[in-house]
Amino acid sequence: MYALAIHGGAGALGPAAHDPAHQAALCAALTAALQAGERILQDDGTALDAVEAAVVALEDDPLFNAGRGAVLAADGSVELDAAIMEGTTLRAGAVALVRHTRNPVRLARCVLERLPHVMLAGEAADRFAAQSALSRVANDYFVTEQRRAQLQARAADSAGVSRGSGPWGTVGAVARDRRGQLAAATSTGGTVGKRPGRIGDSPIIGAGTYADDSACAVSGTGHGEWFVRIVQAYDLVARLRYAHQPLAVAMQEALERLSSLGAHGGLIAVNAAGEICVRHNCESMLGASVCEGQAPQVCIL
Ligand code: ASP
Repeated sequence: MYALAIHGGAGALGPAAHDPAHQAALCAALTAALQAGERILQDDGTALDAVEAAVVALEDDPLFNAGRGAVLAADGSVELDAAIMEGTTLRAGAVALVRHTRNPVRLARCVLERLPHVMLAGEAADRFAAQSALSRVANDYFVTEQRRAQLQARAADSAGVSRGSGPWGTVGAVARDRRGQLAAATSTGGTVGKRPGRIGDSPIIGAGTYADDSACAVSGTGHGEWFVRIVQAYDLVARLRYAHQPLAVAMQEALERLSSLGAHGGLIAVNAAGEICVRHNCESMLGASVCEGQAPQVCIL
């Protein structure tokens, strides 16, 4: 039995809350990404391949804060972070501050497969992409008009625009394949107007991304600095491993802790039994999931 869940960020829907056409576009994009991952699982592929394929689809869609359409840093450029992890072997690959690699999650996968390291950042990461024959693009490729307007609106409003208004959030995927192997992946442009050089939780193994077959695979979205401080993804895994909490209870308590700290976000996870759990503590979260033999669910939560 396979299971797959993806997310497209968490936060305030902003104008999209009253725009059925935008919501339909988000649902269509999530459906396409879910199908990209599910096709691999249906063909007996690995959880690792499935989460990579789902995240690539979301990175290529300008509706989300990952790859093309990612949020802009304060200087108007795009710097991308991504990670991928395999729960059976605990192999992991992550990249940060990527500026020229079309699909950062593919680059993270190359780090996982081909290097003795876990994380590469900046120019060296983009150079490694070239050596790995991955598609190289100008930084402008990632920049959309909507994200330019979002950065300008933020500059005009010192209180900042709602997280996620207009185009949407960070993306991620978790999967269990038919062999029972787990994997997780996350990809993001980070936060609007961030200081260039800032790295969030998404590429930090244990903060925004983690997978361990003995517990669960998890991908997070939300207030990255808090996710780093409380090692959010591994906190969830630890609740399963050491406290033997059921996944739903662990998720609930993890989100309660986040709330108690005044932080917002959401998590998706799948455990070794193929049980999927999605939770958030903010206005909304975009998610989609499918378990083998059941109808897929795509929703704005
Ligand atoms: N967690 C991401 C970061 O801080 C942002 C998000 O998920 O919205 O980079």
